[in-house]
Amino acid sequence: MQALMQDWPLLCTKVLDHAANWHPMREVISRSIEGPIHRTNYGEIRSRALKVAQALDKSGIRLGDRCATLAWNTWRHLEVWYGALGIGAIYHTVNPRLFADQIVWIVNDAEDRILFVDLTFVPMVEKLIDKMPTIERVVILTDAAHMPETNLRNAVAYEEWIGAVDGDFRWAEFPETTAAGMCYTSGTTGMPKGVVYSHRSNVIHSWMAASGDMMGIGGRDTIMSVVPLFHANSWGLAFTSPMIGAKLVLPGAKLDGASVHELLETEKVTMTAAVPTVWLMLLQHLEATGGTLSTLKRVVIGGSACPRSMTEAFLKKYGVEVRHAWGMTETSPLATVCNVKPETDGDDVERWLDLQMKQGLVPFGVEMRIVDDADKQLPHDGKTFGRLQVRGPAVAASYYKGMGAEAFQTDGFFDTGDVATIDQYGYMQITDRSKDVIKSGGEWISSIDLENVAVGHPDVAEAAVIGIKHPKWDERPLLIIVPKKDRSPTKADLLAYMDGKIAKWWMPDDVVIADDIPHTATGKIQKLALRERYRDYRLPTA
Ligand code: ADP
Repeated sequence: MQALMQDWPLLCTKVLDHAANWHPMREVISRSIEGPIHRTNYGEIRSRALKVAQALDKSGIRLGDRCATLAWNTWRHLEVWYGALGIGAIYHTVNPRLFADQIVWIVNDAEDRILFVDLTFVPMVEKLIDKMPTIERVVILTDAAHMPETNLRNAVAYEEWIGAVDGDFRWAEFPETTAAGMCYTSGTTGMPKGVVYSHRSNVIHSWMAASGDMMGIGGRDTIMSVVPLFHANSWGLAFTSPMIGAKLVLPGAKLDGASVHELLETEKVTMTAAVPTVWLMLLQHLEATGGTLSTLKRVVIGGSACPRSMTEAFLKKYGVEVRHAWGMTETSPLATVCNVKPETDGDDVERWLDLQMKQGLVPFGVEMRIVDDADKQLPHDGKTFGRLQVRGPAVAASYYKGMGAEAFQTDGFFDTGDVATIDQYGYMQITDRSKDVIKSGGEWISSIDLENVAVGHPDVAEAAVIGIKHPKWDERPLLIIVPKKDRSPTKADLLAYMDGKIAKWWMPDDVVIADDIPHTATGKIQKLALRERYRDYRLPTA
């Protein structure tokens, strides 16, 4: 029997309509690229997004066409997302931190027709545009007064471009399974692959993400999306915030500790989210200046493992709760968040800190399992690790143009490329990326675990561990650290500090004190580059 309920397609524009209808004055604050702080609200964002939709339509952009953005988090970028969504076109966020060749490759692969670009990236686009033949028009996200001299053909200032239409326009309607957004994986493990979100997957993911045990946010929160719109769908915040009618703060191009701290305080932010590198900069800034966090209640940290020392600093020094999260571009991205189950004794602070080392629990809407190489499901004992696989309505079913098909299992599960354990309570913990685990004498050593311990040393700013070839053990761990400013820890200090905190046979065979550790376009430690850098390194034990 067919049900007798209404068919109400889950379209992303309905999220903005809801915010504009019921929370029209709720503010959206941005640090503009031009400099000053800009204030608008959901009502105005909808009016202007309708103009974007109308201007796109006038430019001949149609259902299914890709609209690329090379932009920071600002109100204009948000309007472009919703404007494209409103005609069934696809927002395609391109990560500006990628290498030029990768950007060109991605834009060509997606066959983007129009490019929205921040002032910051105009010089870069000028150099690359001839290699991106599908781009018909470049819209520079600024006004006439700030429009730069440019040789970009057909370039127009955003404010002029939307100023040329009257905004008398209606959102298009189409099935909820229509493509909504596109984001390429950052290629940490091979060529970038295109992930294509649907309106339905975005709406479902945002509902999931807002729920109590995930981000736990509501209309009284002020949310700062430090995580960029171009990083894995902004972890859903571009939809979650208007969906719940929360004030939204967008930090623009300035993600250094001082700038982030300033906005957290002046806008009275209560919840924020980003990768550990961002929080490292904030904590260092607070330590150096004696600053405090007077309104912040919660920070969601993911994208890389969040070390215990970071969770502890947030909690004990600043009274801020960390929620450790895991996900990937392919999972929209939030797939697990670490929150406290009653049976875990998580109310005890030390126990809670231990728990937060794990990436957490799945919400309804994510199925998760660990399997061995023969695809046999492994037990949830917190010790056995295997390949982590997930399935759900906001998980990719394939990559654009069929790339990387081997990751998609016949029963609908997606193989994440991560290795993990799941404990008796259901808490998942990432052991490593499968390519980064150190294979020593037939056993595996988790580089993440070693890094988490090493970075707890008071003189260490950042730590990375890679496997180095070893004649007897196949591979052994090499620890690379960047000291904090004006500190000079030694190899002996580090090894003494780690002694007793990890299994004896996990102890790094050597320690390198380095000036820097390379990062990927999404702020992760670039293991590939590190392995390259230390390819000929000889361990003292070899
Ligand atoms: P890319 O795959 O290109 O690096 P993503 O942002 O999609 O870009 O990265 C997803 C990967 O990041 C995951 O597969 C996992 O390896 C890693 N990751 C994400 N969150 C965490 C976390 N909390 N702890 C450890 N690793 C994480």
